[in-house]
Amino acid sequence: MQRGYEVIVVGCGGIGSSAAYWLAQRAGAGVLAMEQFALGHERGSSQDHSRIIRRSYHDPAYAALASPAYDLWGRMEEESGIKLVVETGGLDLELIGTTGIKDVAHCAAAMEAQGIAHEVLSADEIMYRYPQFQLPGNARGLYQADSGLVDAAKANAVHIALARRHGATILEGLPVRAIRSVGDGVEVQTDEGIFGAKHVVLACGAWTNNLLGGLGITWPLTVTQEQVTYFATPYLREFAPDRFPIWIWRAPEEFYGFPIYGEVATKAGQDVGGEEVTAETRTFEPDPLTRERLIRFLDAHIPRFLGPELMTKTCLYTMPPDRNFVIDAVPGHPRITVAADAAHAFKFATLFGRILSQLALDGWTEYPIAPFRADRLALTDPTFRPIFRNEAVLRHA
Ligand SMILES: Cc1cc2nc3c(=O)[nH]c(=O)nc-3n(C[C@H](O)[C@H](O)[C@H](O)COP(=O)(O)OP(=O)(O)OC[C@H]3O[C@@H](n4cnc5c(N)ncnc54)[C@H](O)[C@@H]3O)c2cc1C
Repeated sequence: MQRGYEVIVVGCGGIGSSAAYWLAQRAGAGVLAMEQFALGHERGSSQDHSRIIRRSYHDPAYAALASPAYDLWGRMEEESGIKLVVETGGLDLELIGTTGIKDVAHCAAAMEAQGIAHEVLSADEIMYRYPQFQLPGNARGLYQADSGLVDAAKANAVHIALARRHGATILEGLPVRAIRSVGDGVEVQTDEGIFGAKHVVLACGAWTNNLLGGLGITWPLTVTQEQVTYFATPYLREFAPDRFPIWIWRAPEEFYGFPIYGEVATKAGQDVGGEEVTAETRTFEPDPLTRERLIRFLDAHIPRFLGPELMTKTCLYTMPPDRNFVIDAVPGHPRITVAADAAHAFKFATLFGRILSQLALDGWTEYPIAPFRADRLALTDPTFRPIFRNEAVLRHA
């Protein structure tokens, strides 16, 4: 048995690296984080230039987390001196009456409830403000000024660097093989021996069930292989971050995109556009049909966004059947806390790390996470029908 730690974090993607940082702030050298691959690897969900950050959610549970998330990204920027959030403004677009529960009206109501400023714009108003869009008369959009992007790769590196600065040990290339609750602690088994801790935080993304399985638990998590394409538009000024917003096309086929950032290219993708895989069976091959659907959409609605394809990157989504996060103790294992990300968590990564640190060190958190309990029906009732594909969301309208 290796020396005991206060807390061991398993997984150093967006959420685990943040947990390591927030834990190290309070427990210093008592924190050990383990990553199975090299830090910054591209096999998980967190490694690209940009992830959308926004307050525009259809559900007040998410809208309520947005302000603390923005505040904590601000604190990270202050502590590191590195810019992590670029506010571009954001548009949630829809064809009126086709969207279901995630429509502009639900988003506006959730934001209203949180006192978050926003505007609902007609198609003409959007095209006046952003002539890059071509929209039919029955389109409308919700505009929110401080939507933008988080520089995901930088954020991960910042969390890890500052975790080390606060005394944490980070071990990479070390897969955790199993975890076990023992007496008043947890054992973590690796190829380099067994490590002990008072508490373990699991932030394993698409690999979550591999470790839960050893505890006798398997959650109905669906993993899909997704992709984003960078287009080398020649219209650089029109798509610069100070001229063009992040956008989401809320429809049964949902698309989203970014201004030029990270590469000299725009970036867009289809939400849940890919096939079901596992972390082991996924390939790194882009799907030509998903790319075709994306290009057809862009050609119709933002034609100058397009240009020669610079690259298409694949990435994994991990989704509980209700597409809500899980942040809770593993049932029956009070000293093991787990976060499952539901494929829209990067914007909350630094907040989730703080929440996980509070759950591990204090047993409670000041943030409203009740909707993300591990004992909810979506995880425990085998008849719960997945609603993560957008066509299914329409059933809830
Ligand atoms: C294409 C795409 C676009 C997205 N767009 C957005 C967006 O615009 N806005 C947004 O908020 N979110 C977005 N997301 C979702 C967001 O990126 C994820 O929710 C977030 O990155 C999940 O982070 P994670 O730490 O849970 O997972 P990961 O980044 O996958 O990290 C899990 C880590 O755990 C490690 N690990 C697993 N098992 C073990 C083990 N046994 N031992 C050691 N290490 C282990 C893995 O190697 C991995 O590094 C997007 C995701 C994708 C794929």
